[in-house]
Amino acid sequence: MSNFVPEEAIDYDEVYRRGGHNLGDEDFALFKCPNCGQVYLLESEVDTVYLDPNELSRRVPVYDGSFHCVSCGREVPQDAPWEGPNASPRFGVTWAELQASEWAWVAPRPAADA
Ligand SMILES: [Zn+2]
Repeated sequence: MSNFVPEEAIDYDEVYRRGGHNLGDEDFALFKCPNCGQVYLLESEVDTVYLDPNELSRRVPVYDGSFHCVSCGREVPQDAPWEGPNASPRFGVTWAELQASEWAWVAPRPAADA
């Protein structure tokens, strides 16, 4: 568990610089598709998933249900929270997974963790 990227590691300034403002009071977290490992950025204040690390305007609302993974095409299960203290580890994103994804820019890895 401890190797997952913590929410507080997310660089909000960089997300905003890239056009990631949502509706205010943004609360970002990372999660992944448990089927294929595709990494996503979640804005949990209004339940919005950012689909594309290179085009932050590509978003999908998830307050009314889940969405289909852009990588494997399967619906991301909502049988457990994707983020937060009760999140299932199936959705957790490790530093290695983050760095292997195009979302690597979203959270600089602390040197002590490298
Ligand atoms: Zn997937």
